[in-house]
Amino acid sequence: MRLRLTRTIMILASLAFAGCGEDSRLEPWQPGSGPKPPHVLLISIDSLRPDHLGCYGYAKPTSPAIDRLAADGVRFEVALSTTSWTLPAHAALFTGLFDSTHGVTGNHLALGAEHETLTERLRARGYETIGFYGGPYLDAAFGFAQGFDHYESCMSPIGEHAHADVTGPRTLAAVERRLARLSGRPLFCFVHLWDVHYDYKPPAETLALFSSDDVDGLDLSGFDSNPAIHEHMSPRVRDRLIALYDAEIRSVDAQVQRLVELTRKAIGDEDLLIVITADHGEEFFEHGKKGHQSSLFEEQVRIPVILVRRGVWPKGRSIAEPVSITDLAPTLAAAAGAGANWRVQGRDLAGVWSGSGLAPSALLLELLVDRNDWRALRTDKEKVMRARLERGDWEAGYHLVRDPREKRGAGREEAWVVQGLEQLQEKLEDGAIVREKLGLKPHPHSYSSELRQRLGFLGYTDSGTNAGTKSGTDAGTMSAPAKK
Ligand SMILES: [Zn+2]
Repeated sequence: MRLRLTRTIMILASLAFAGCGEDSRLEPWQPGSGPKPPHVLLISIDSLRPDHLGCYGYAKPTSPAIDRLAADGVRFEVALSTTSWTLPAHAALFTGLFDSTHGVTGNHLALGAEHETLTERLRARGYETIGFYGGPYLDAAFGFAQGFDHYESCMSPIGEHAHADVTGPRTLAAVERRLARLSGRPLFCFVHLWDVHYDYKPPAETLALFSSDDVDGLDLSGFDSNPAIHEHMSPRVRDRLIALYDAEIRSVDAQVQRLVELTRKAIGDEDLLIVITADHGEEFFEHGKKGHQSSLFEEQVRIPVILVRRGVWPKGRSIAEPVSITDLAPTLAAAAGAGANWRVQGRDLAGVWSGSGLAPSALLLELLVDRNDWRALRTDKEKVMRARLERGDWEAGYHLVRDPREKRGAGREEAWVVQGLEQLQEKLEDGAIVREKLGLKPHPHSYSSELRQRLGFLGYTDSGTNAGTKSGTDAGTMSAPAKK
């Protein structure tokens, strides 16, 4: 008992406070009450692999606008989501907590009132809070509207297949309309851009930048259920598929540019903090699967993280230390003066350049889908992973310097793998303690008929267990690499 109490105290003491203020109350900013905190533009681009962006080394011209932002700010070379699908990743983005701590790990679960979100923190600080989203997992039913003065769906009217929905233009129009009537308070504008998510339906003129070979008219629509898209497709088909994905990125890159322009126009020359990130990556058969939500390998969990704050934060800097999507909420809260006494598992990334440093942290990855349970822990050089799959258990360690593509998994004969798996277990137990102490509970949400229909279009069920399974990305049939 005493040991558990001691450990609990240690865990809670180690939780980051997303700011150094002594006062636990958040003082709303008012004119004359001190320097105006920065306006914040947080852009989450669904399914965006960082290695398909120029600023992360990609050779094709997918991202001129994002590359300019990276040159204007700080780029984190190794950034990870907490998982490989939309709902828990965004819950982590808004709470600064890993998945099994915030608990929104299945599509029947939502954030509850006891989850304190970044948006609520910023509103308490006096911010005007507006949010826009283009995919069904950002629906208010999942708790994401908490703290927003205005939270708007930019999805197509019900009836269209959500994967095929092109929501970017509608999102830009909605943001522009709302930016025209700002109050003058500090602004928090969250925008979820959906179109990089499959199905890939870029504008024809954008696709022409990346491919002129239409593979004799082969139809590559319907990514997750299209039988033409499989592990052994020809290089020609694969090139066309990648071109479709890249063209979507280029198309969304232009939307990012427009969002930045609209925001700058709305706030004048006042301090603006811009964040470019994603919820997860995308697999093109690197480990035998397509899409996401089927493993925790790098291609599914790496995300871009770019922070820009002109004249205040560094310009053109790259940071090699691994960071997590859980670090973003505490970073933004601290910059806004809204971080005091907020218990989060993420860290304030500004510590890297402010001199206070960044507490080293092994980053937790989790995926609970159907009856499959994936967990991983990643440091700068190593990653251990364990999976409890329907067809049996599996575990491995990957040395990411020698084996960045995670092709040669090591087993328990290696001491570092044993140690890593023990640390993974400890991290999970620590998270459970945090969850208990924060009083976080599971919150089943009730589907509206519209949301039920939209999720049905995505291939999900509402069986009341964990997230449903998309056809073609069934973790249960994941061919995990053999142990070595
Ligand atoms: Zn997503």
